Amino acid sequence: MDAWPRERVQALYEKITPGDVEAALTREERSVHDLAALLSPAAIPYLESMAREAQRLTRWHFGRTINLYAPIYISNLCAADCVYCGFAAHSGSHEKRTTLTPDQIRQECQALAAMGYQNILLLTGEAPRAVPVDYIAEAVSIARAFFPSVSVEIYALDEDGYRMLCARGLEGVTLYMETYDRETYPKLHLSGQKMDYVFRLDAMEHAGLAGTRRMSIGVLLGLFDWRIDAVWLGLHARHLQKECWQSAVALSFPRLRHTPARFALEHPVSDAELVQMMLAMRLFLPEAGFNLSTREPAALRDRLISLGVTSMSAGSSTRPGGYATHREGYTGHSREGCEVLEQFEIEDDRPPAEVVAAIRKAGYDPVWKDFDRAFDAIDDVHIC
Ligand code: SF4
Repeated sequence: MDAWPRERVQALYEKITPGDVEAALTREERSVHDLAALLSPAAIPYLESMAREAQRLTRWHFGRTINLYAPIYISNLCAADCVYCGFAAHSGSHEKRTTLTPDQIRQECQALAAMGYQNILLLTGEAPRAVPVDYIAEAVSIARAFFPSVSVEIYALDEDGYRMLCARGLEGVTLYMETYDRETYPKLHLSGQKMDYVFRLDAMEHAGLAGTRRMSIGVLLGLFDWRIDAVWLGLHARHLQKECWQSAVALSFPRLRHTPARFALEHPVSDAELVQMMLAMRLFLPEAGFNLSTREPAALRDRLISLGVTSMSAGSSTRPGGYATHREGYTGHSREGCEVLEQFEIEDDRPPAEVVAAIRKAGYDPVWKDFDRAFDAIDDVHIC
């Protein structure tokens, strides 16, 4: 980030011509300058060519497969105050805050395992006192009894923290920088440990050093100029691929659609811009997995299947206990009467079977599991 301040990234864009886009399209290994060319407005007339190349690269590296995963929110307590988030301490929400008990976590796992899931993501807010690392470690242990692949999306930890989770069977960490822009970041993150930009930026390297096999990063689209954040995201991914070469690096593309009343979306990202960003990133990072959540509507998700996505969530609930304890929406049922606070409204509320059918219809294989438990050489995993 010191080497690529905002001014330097902006300067990249100022000089880009259609010739730069054409050159970027023909190269096998692409530079940061090529990435900016593909992200720039000059690349808009080339989206079809970019889509063909993105499809070719994705099929080359991943085949025609889409991994399926589901999130399990284990707590919606949060002491941080991120102005764009429904879980934030001062979001104005009056819905119920809760942290699942170990038995409730087991029930959530059972419900998802019965649907066929083998790959899940445990999520919390940032409340390290009420939801400490050892509670999360226990949740990982419980989940590992049901699923061969368990990842977390929690507050940033140091290396020891991630090591504790890896020892209990953790496979992956998802952590979004939200925005890499140093000036914008403190205006959006008003309290909590998340205010510490450098600690958050370093966290993925901590996770990699601790032994995490999969790491997913992203920016929250809508917080800042997406073209500038995307360059920083690409740089971060390449840095992690070098520094944490034993881990697989993936990108997510969360896009803000609904926000708390106090936050006005100043940098909305259109569908076409989201597609351009994904295509450009695929050309820059051919081996990175791409995750797509149910934040996006069904029709758009279905179209993105063939353009670089490798992993999709389905049947998601974004409130603790949403599958069994405080059951709601994932089967398309009404959410009325559910009092537990959710982080954001999902757009694609199709049940997993419908998402699977859509993946097959696009000519891809839905994959519930892509490795054997034996492959994960974790010594002495404690399964609750
Ligand atoms: S984004 Fe995360 S840390 Fe920030 S308020 Fe929401 S749950 Fe808390």
